[in-house]
Amino acid sequence: MTPEEILKNLPPLTLESIEQVYVGKVNSCTCGCKGKYTLTSEDPKAVKKVIRKLKSCVAQGSFPWVEGKVLIWAYREYLYRVFFVKELV
Ligand SMILES: [Zn+2]
Repeated sequence: MTPEEILKNLPPLTLESIEQVYVGKVNSCTCGCKGKYTLTSEDPKAVKKVIRKLKSCVAQGSFPWVEGKVLIWAYREYLYRVFFVKELV
């Protein structure tokens, strides 16, 4: 799939559809000690930043995968997780 197709197959990347985001280090604990969880309700700007990051990572060939309600991808030493309100298919 091309980056355009990948992005088209994702659920709508809106603040309403995203509960929280996580930015941390790859191959590290994800409890929050090696990264940061941000609720959309607390900091929508931080969530928008992660959405922009997702688009640029996909454009550069780093594709996300899905685990339940969570979209996950890695870029360089960083790990990103986007928690959607609904289950992803
Ligand atoms: Zn930890």
